[in-house]
Amino acid sequence: MMDILRQAEPFSVRECMRSSLFADGSVVVFLLKNNPKWEFEEFSPNITRFTGYTQEEIEKKKLGLLDIIHPEDKEKLFKSFQQSRKERERMWSFSQVRLVRKDGSILWVELRFYFVNDASNRTVYFLGYMVDITKEIEEKNLFETVTDLVPVGIYLYEDTKFIYLNKKALDISGYSEEDIKNADIISFIYPEDRPVVEEILKKRREGNRDVFTYRIRIITKDEKIKWVQITSKIIYYEGKHLGIGIVQDIDKLVQLEFAKELLSKINRAMIASGDTFSLIEAVCDVFKNFGNFRGVLVCKVDGEKLTPVCRFSKNNFLDSIDCNEIPERKIIRIRQPVYISDISRLKKFSKWKELALANKVNSLIILPIKDGKQIRFIISLYIEEKNYFSKDVLEVFNEIANDISFGLRYMKKEEDLFLKEYYDSLTGIGNRNYFMNNLKKYINKNRYFYLVILDIYNFKYINEKFGKEFGDRILKEIADNLDRNLKYENVFRIGNDEFTIISTTEDVYILIDRIREILSKIKIEGRDFPLDYNIGVVKFPEDGKDPHEIVLKAERTLEIARKNGKNEVAFFDREKYESVRQTIHLEEKIENAIKNDEFILCFQPIVSVKDNTIKGVEVLVRWKDQKGNLILPSEFIPVAEKTGQIKEIDMLVIKKVRELLNRWSSKKILIKKGKTRKEVPLEKIRFSVNLTPTYIGDIISMLKSRQQFTEDDIKVLKKHLTFELTERQSLEIYTEKKNINRLRRMGFKIAIDDFGTGYSSLSYLAELNVNYIKIDMVFIQKMLTDKRIHRLVQSIINIAKIFGIKTIAEGVETYEQLQELKKLGCNMYQGYYYSPPINIDEFEKLLVL
Ligand code: C2E
Ligand code: CA
Ligand code: CA
Repeated sequence: MMDILRQAEPFSVRECMRSSLFADGSVVVFLLKNNPKWEFEEFSPNITRFTGYTQEEIEKKKLGLLDIIHPEDKEKLFKSFQQSRKERERMWSFSQVRLVRKDGSILWVELRFYFVNDASNRTVYFLGYMVDITKEIEEKNLFETVTDLVPVGIYLYEDTKFIYLNKKALDISGYSEEDIKNADIISFIYPEDRPVVEEILKKRREGNRDVFTYRIRIITKDEKIKWVQITSKIIYYEGKHLGIGIVQDIDKLVQLEFAKELLSKINRAMIASGDTFSLIEAVCDVFKNFGNFRGVLVCKVDGEKLTPVCRFSKNNFLDSIDCNEIPERKIIRIRQPVYISDISRLKKFSKWKELALANKVNSLIILPIKDGKQIRFIISLYIEEKNYFSKDVLEVFNEIANDISFGLRYMKKEEDLFLKEYYDSLTGIGNRNYFMNNLKKYINKNRYFYLVILDIYNFKYINEKFGKEFGDRILKEIADNLDRNLKYENVFRIGNDEFTIISTTEDVYILIDRIREILSKIKIEGRDFPLDYNIGVVKFPEDGKDPHEIVLKAERTLEIARKNGKNEVAFFDREKYESVRQTIHLEEKIENAIKNDEFILCFQPIVSVKDNTIKGVEVLVRWKDQKGNLILPSEFIPVAEKTGQIKEIDMLVIKKVRELLNRWSSKKILIKKGKTRKEVPLEKIRFSVNLTPTYIGDIISMLKSRQQFTEDDIKVLKKHLTFELTERQSLEIYTEKKNINRLRRMGFKIAIDDFGTGYSSLSYLAELNVNYIKIDMVFIQKMLTDKRIHRLVQSIINIAKIFGIKTIAEGVETYEQLQELKKLGCNMYQGYYYSPPINIDEFEKLLVL
């Protein structure tokens, strides 16, 4: 059509323009003269609607287009015109110029026209048309006004480039429209977040029209990193698919959220940590892994001294700082969190400042961790950006500091409790509780391990000989040396002189050798103090799977080692264990027997060799169980001695004797003398009570404590009681001697029981202030057939005489034995010949009460 127009006569153009073809509608077609006014040569009739002028008025006034173009838009028009002239014959257009209509009102139009040239290529006319775009412009204005008013950023993009950004979007980024329009979107995104955006752009290209909401960091014009939230969508606009996005500045929000998350993470980490050190470590870890910090420094504070306990930094730049020259020091005085929002403005700490800035650290927050008033730790966080923290966020960090402080205080309390509960106060190594906890942990791991239980041989002796204080020092020394030398093992003290080691060693013999060596090298005040021991070993899982079972088996194994003598080591053995288990069973039964008062007394008279008159009576214990069975001492006393239950039994016996003395004190006592009876005072009959030597110390304490006996009881008992003590192994003589003399001083009489079977030396008799010795029945029963034993009995009697000690022969069963004893000058005897042990009724008959 344009070609036709070009060649056509102007008049035929007029015909065409004035025809009904262009009578109405939103397009005005016109032909302009190329004169200064751009006079309308021809136009379609609807020009009246566009300009307000009638056709006549236009013709009469010779109105030109430039007459009605808004003055402000003329320049725009010319610029475009000039541009188009250079590229001749190209249709050119202006969008958005305003016409000032006859009545002064404004109409937005879009102009497009062609140059119509003559034969000599001179432009004679402009042929063009204009479209009313007022409505669109108004809408666009409205859109822009609205979008500039909303508090969110709005942008449009095509492919990977921005084509429109509202004021808020520009504000968020800090850029101007020129900076950003047609720039690549990706260049504004923080490098770490670029993949997220690239992925979305890719999806858009593939035709994905979903709504996406995501958070990314952008780089603002002043090179700050800012968190924004984007919601984007695809719209159809101006014939194209465009991306529209809403961008919100969530930097403060993210910081706050971040700080709060940090707070909760720290709290969680603190709850999970068991002690101060792991708490600090956990907190440090959270900062390390979660915050986007350039560095984290935790220092312990001791007065003015700062000691780094945890430091983490990009390029390890914090490793080279001098703790005397860092802003963290400020905190020691200020005692409040300190925030340095711009390190470059800092006046002091120039060396530190240089280092920080070189490592892209621009701000710093320092948090004091306090225990009450005292600052115990300082945590400082090194941050890349200036002015990073808002007031709200600082508050959260303050809270973080408070929480850690609280956690620390709590932990300290817990630790103190923990220490009390799990550590042995004497040696500082784990106690029985801790041992059990560890044992359970090891069992749960389900990997093999050895449980080695160590007992110091005759520690009781050491304690008694050198005093408790000295004993404690030895225990400390043992614990220290075991702990120090067995670095890869766990050492615990589970009882007085019992230690345990949980070990995953491959060769337990090596471990035992090392223990042996350690014990042989114990030194006290520079002096060697080698120790003897017993060791029991059990292995998990072969020997047991339950913690209590394992411990019990270990103890029983140790028991077996002990029985074998000093420095013996025993490994768990199922058969031996079974026999020991019987003992345990018995131990429980004895326990019940004590509770249920199942022990009764029987009595065996001690009579004069000369005339068979009663001089005393040995009180012997019997156990009458609930079924009425009488159980002999040989069956339960060895166990009761091992478990210590014998103490209670002996005390029971003494109490029962006390009751009897009370009952008999008011009664007349007639004893047999030859064929007649003779009345004697109760004091004339000594009551011999057996005591197990190991526990005399305890018995003495109990007698003295006044808890079980009144002063009056003791007075009565002293008058009537003789304690029989078996002589024992040489090592215990020392203690025994001391205790025997204590009993003597209290006013009790003492008999050495089973004399001749132990280690007693003559000097022992000389030193001890005893009243009787009881010649063991094996001698009495063999003395008539074995000359050597006869001689032995003879010399015992003679020596006793020299020391003024009375002799009592035990187990006299025959007349011949009694006759022989008479010859040898033995004072008294007891045995079946006169009477076996009898019960209380029979005994009362004997005394004829
Ligand atoms: P023991 O002190 O040597 O007691 C004497 C033991 O010899 C008693 O055994 C007694 O029944 C037994 N016996 C007495 N005369 C004869 C005899 O002619 N021939 C023979 N074969 N045996 C005779 P029992 O009562 O079984 O006591 C055994 C041991 O148990 C006692 O030996 C004593 O060491 C201990 N025992 C008994 N009662 C107590 C007690 O209350 N406390 C403590 N710690 N030990 C006790
Ligand atoms: Ca006895
Ligand atoms: Ca005896």
